[in-house]
Amino acid sequence: MNSSTRIPKTTPITDDYDISNTVLGLGINGKVVECVSKKNGHRRALKVLHDSVKARREVELHWRASGCLHIVEIIDVYDNTYGGKRCLLVVMECMDGGELFQRIQDNGDRAFTERQAAEIMHSICVAVKHLHDTNIAHRDIKPENLLYSSSEPNALLKLTDFGFAKETLNAADTLQTPCYTPYYVAPEVLGPEKYDKSCDIWSLGVVMYILLCGFPPFYSNHGLAISPGMKKRIRLGQYDFPEPEWSNVSAEAKNLIKGMLSVDPEKRLTIHQIMSSGWIRQFKAVPQTPLYTTSLLRDTSQAWGDVQDEMSRSLATMRVDYDQVQIKSLEQSNNSLLNKRRNKVGA
Ligand code: ADP
Repeated sequence: MNSSTRIPKTTPITDDYDISNTVLGLGINGKVVECVSKKNGHRRALKVLHDSVKARREVELHWRASGCLHIVEIIDVYDNTYGGKRCLLVVMECMDGGELFQRIQDNGDRAFTERQAAEIMHSICVAVKHLHDTNIAHRDIKPENLLYSSSEPNALLKLTDFGFAKETLNAADTLQTPCYTPYYVAPEVLGPEKYDKSCDIWSLGVVMYILLCGFPPFYSNHGLAISPGMKKRIRLGQYDFPEPEWSNVSAEAKNLIKGMLSVDPEKRLTIHQIMSSGWIRQFKAVPQTPLYTTSLLRDTSQAWGDVQDEMSRSLATMRVDYDQVQIKSLEQSNNSLLNKRRNKVGA
């Protein structure tokens, strides 16, 4: 695994970078600030994480995923001590173009089209394919984690924030990895990687829905805590394609969304099925149908924070639910070796 060659530098970050006071963004784990390389003068973004198992996993998986055109690149990682606390300092390429939906809102007077939506979805799908192909589920794909590299017309959209990413090795892969002892592990325990990946596909469906109309598929009226009603709607997949916003959107796009938002994670499309659909693969040929997206995003911009909170909460619920499915698999599994082990423990 080439990740083994990626070891954080233990030299002080200040040897290589000037750290500025400019805050680029606020996250749950603290600030992301600007820094400048002393070597070449490039502006970079610096994320500081307190060292922990979780932080190490975030950095390791993000670092491993770097190198894809649509994933924010990690340039350097430092393991430094501040005030007696060990920190991981992650230097990333600086994404100056802001968040996905902010840019669409600022689209000027031109109407945002179905073809533009398809191009954006293609970029995000390239990132997800890269991750899923390398056994990583991101599990936190949402609008605030999709950033543009610059405000230029040719800017690239990239995925970031691997704070909830998870390695999804399946049984076959695991058996080939010598450091695991597979003897007592039931296949279904090692095989629920589809659940983690299906989280990402659900996110793709929600982002695609918002791109095509400007509002989310599931929303509560008050937007405070995730309401039982909304949780139920999400679980039952209750959403529709209301008129007039959806009247001119192609049937192909709607079908793709249905496949991505399928309630049963096992039936949800895989990233490979999505990538091979005509709408994504031939995104340049998708009709240039004008959409309501820009104006609706502007009209509802005050409620945007609620939309983001709701999506974060839904993803958190999904991660917990799916992790429970995985634990259940172990309890319910009928693997003979596992049963032997159980009997031993019980004896
Ligand atoms: P957290 O895991 O704490 O939520 P994020 O990685 O999502 O942190 O970053 C928080 C915010 O910082 C983002 O929403 C974005 O506004 C900004 N940000 C993150 N990475 C970059 C970057 N590479 N370039 C510019 N801004 C960034």
